[in-house]
Amino acid sequence: MAETKSTCPYCGVGCGVVIESEGAQITGVRGDPDHPANFGRLCSKGSTLHLTASAAITRQARLLQPMQRLQRGQGPQASSWDAALPAITNQLADIIEHHGPDAVGLYVSGQLLTEDYYVFNKLAKGLIGTNNIDTNSRLCMSSAVAGYKATLGADAPPACYDDFNDAATVWVTGANPAWAHPVLVRRLEDARRANPQQKLVVVDPRRTETAAMADLHLQILPGTDIALCHGLLHLMLWEGWTDNAYIAAHTSGFEALKARVREYTPKETARMTGLQEADILQAARWFANVDAATGQRLPTLSLYCQGLNQSRSGTARNAALINLHLACGQIGQPGAGPLSLTGQPNAMGGREAGGLANLLSAHRDLANPAHRAEVAALWGLPSVPDKPGKTAVEMFQAAADGEIKALWITCTNPAQSLPDQAMVQRALQRAELVVVQEAFATTATAKYADWLLPATTWGEKDGTVTNSERRISRVRPAIPPAGAARHDWAIALDIARRLEARLRPGAPTLFGFDSPEAIWNEHRATTRGRDLDITGLSYPILDSQGPQQWPMPAGAASGRARLYEDGRFETPDGRARFFDTAALPLAEPRDARFPFSLTTGRLRDQWHGGSRTGTLGRLFGHQAEPSIDLHVQDMARLRLQDGDLVQVHSRRGDLVLPAVTSDSVAPTQAHVAMHWGGEVLGAGGAGGINTLTNPAFCPLSKQPELKHTAVRLQKA
Ligand code: SF4
Repeated sequence: MAETKSTCPYCGVGCGVVIESEGAQITGVRGDPDHPANFGRLCSKGSTLHLTASAAITRQARLLQPMQRLQRGQGPQASSWDAALPAITNQLADIIEHHGPDAVGLYVSGQLLTEDYYVFNKLAKGLIGTNNIDTNSRLCMSSAVAGYKATLGADAPPACYDDFNDAATVWVTGANPAWAHPVLVRRLEDARRANPQQKLVVVDPRRTETAAMADLHLQILPGTDIALCHGLLHLMLWEGWTDNAYIAAHTSGFEALKARVREYTPKETARMTGLQEADILQAARWFANVDAATGQRLPTLSLYCQGLNQSRSGTARNAALINLHLACGQIGQPGAGPLSLTGQPNAMGGREAGGLANLLSAHRDLANPAHRAEVAALWGLPSVPDKPGKTAVEMFQAAADGEIKALWITCTNPAQSLPDQAMVQRALQRAELVVVQEAFATTATAKYADWLLPATTWGEKDGTVTNSERRISRVRPAIPPAGAARHDWAIALDIARRLEARLRPGAPTLFGFDSPEAIWNEHRATTRGRDLDITGLSYPILDSQGPQQWPMPAGAASGRARLYEDGRFETPDGRARFFDTAALPLAEPRDARFPFSLTTGRLRDQWHGGSRTGTLGRLFGHQAEPSIDLHVQDMARLRLQDGDLVQVHSRRGDLVLPAVTSDSVAPTQAHVAMHWGGEVLGAGGAGGINTLTNPAFCPLSKQPELKHTAVRLQKA
């Protein structure tokens, strides 16, 4: 039996795993005791990775050879790499020559490795000449990115998992890590056992598993996060709990915010959020954390995820929370700071490689002419395109409108995961060329593909990922690729080199690398002098010293645990910026016609659209089928019994689901897990929950409001 150290491919905790294998078979998996994210622990998803790997093969869920669909609406036929690669290249080149580079859209994934991302990004921006490359991380973390940049000046989570041990208060908002990031909650439980005085505050419209652990659960009305943060700051100012010396020395813009929060009195905040004034006061006390006896300030750490991010006001929600950290000096010290939880295994690495429509390599901004010039120089090009690329929802809307002619979709399933599935289906039907590069043949998007390209997946891939605490880990192959599957970077590279011959004949290649390590070395060279500088890191150092947190510039002995310890931020004047915003309404508040607030969330044992977790029966033991959770009063009002089917209508579509009485939701609220739908898990509608959801997005982050939809319910 062979053993290979690698990383779990699910959530952004980034747990280390040890893969056991015999020949071409993965036979077991266990937590890596040496990995600093999990110290040997795994959750139900990670600990069954070996079973999903074999179930995907035996259930014929893996895509094992290139397939071509000769006629849309019919099944695909077996093809070969020799046929697929030149045909796709020629069609892409024809579209570029006839319609321009912006007629191509690349939609990639936070599950790709950093090396994959680097090649795709260079292919789009360096070779094709379009910024139309975006990723499903847009649905996940882009509001966190925009929130960090608006306040701290850089897309850099400043805290780390070790801060759990030092925090006097852990503040969880818009997240249910007990199910979505379970290994972190085990670490949190350890910290609470070691320090029974530690307080846990959970802000969530639902009484989740995490909320049930809390010392204080603030069950706010959906979409009132900004009002709560402003109300807390109002109280902190009133009580004298802000850190005025920190504000004066290290921040700017406080006076405007101070004037703004004057109107967020406890009474008004209670009215807006649906909370009790006494609970708001207690929460403010525990966040600010000034010891009444000594006057000493104790550290507060906040953890947050999609409840803040997936919103039309996602950036403002993130920034309103960071405002509190800055106002109380709760940042840059052990146990304190904002720490966004990442939904995907490598949403962070993708941003580091610049794989978003508004970014360039190494966190450079597309809108910044100096950054564009730096990347052009690094790539040996006269320029890189300056026109902003289409972000996820915009890209599919542009394809539905006929503006984008070719969609190349890699390692993601937009026919299930994007909001407003009717629009997404129009896009996939109207595009002249749809290439789907995937490890799984069973995704909802696969049935729209003109070409299906088989890609490697966990256990076969080789490269790096970055987790929520900026820690870069190696992903290593334990077995050879299944069937004819190839690595994502290698497929992109093959098409890139063929495209070069059509688009830049005779020019030196932009793609002078042939291994993940060579790609990563070019990537890390682009980080020199940037906030995420990793010029001091290498594959051999990752092998010998283990996973490291960026930055780790040349000469550094190790990565850095936390940022901004000197109170200097990544802004031109070195000061963090308070973000002044009014409390913004939901994109689609409930009303007389659509009187329920439908929220979405995650189950403990499923992940994303279930292409991997859906292959394993035991992962349905926790919840076997989709359902809509309703409060007992609403069940009675609608004359529903548990298990009765209910029609769920939104302004974009309908779904039929069994109703279940739940004490986790408040009256007039409903909840459905986001996993169900598409070809794998089924949910009474081809697009699942996203048949209903709203494509409205945050104007700053372009992240859609997947978390909240106004719906009408009636017994089916
Ligand atoms: Fe994998 Fe996340 Fe579970 Fe860790 S917590 S084993 S990274 S799914």
